[in-house]
Amino acid sequence: MSAKFEYRRSVTHRCGHSQSHTFFARCRQEADSWAFNLKKVECDACREKTDRIAAEAKAANLPALLGSPNQITWANAIRQRIYNMLSRTDRYHHAASCCQHETQATWWIENRKATIQIIVAHLTDSGRRAA
Ligand SMILES: [Zn+2]
Repeated sequence: MSAKFEYRRSVTHRCGHSQSHTFFARCRQEADSWAFNLKKVECDACREKTDRIAAEAKAANLPALLGSPNQITWANAIRQRIYNMLSRTDRYHHAASCCQHETQATWWIENRKATIQIIVAHLTDSGRRAA
């Protein structure tokens, strides 16, 4: 068994956040290569948030979205925020369940700042078409 040393590295993750990591590696090059690989993934906080949103979507029966990986991550967060907002009110409860009929990530991103009326009209319309 070869000796391991402790290396600290500050890594800028793909989400843009910096996080400090401690590695127990055989040499500096090994620690550097682990740090390099970590740049390709989200920081711990963002990954937890992504996992939590995925769990919420599953609990709410919302299907997987279609789009690029970055679009999907972003759109999932938008959809969950809108779904939670709609499902909290009696008036829009039906629209909340219609969130499952819009699976294009780009629609959620483009309409992230749309009024509640526009969002509800689109979702209930999609719900009718799917029925
Ligand atoms: Zn992050």
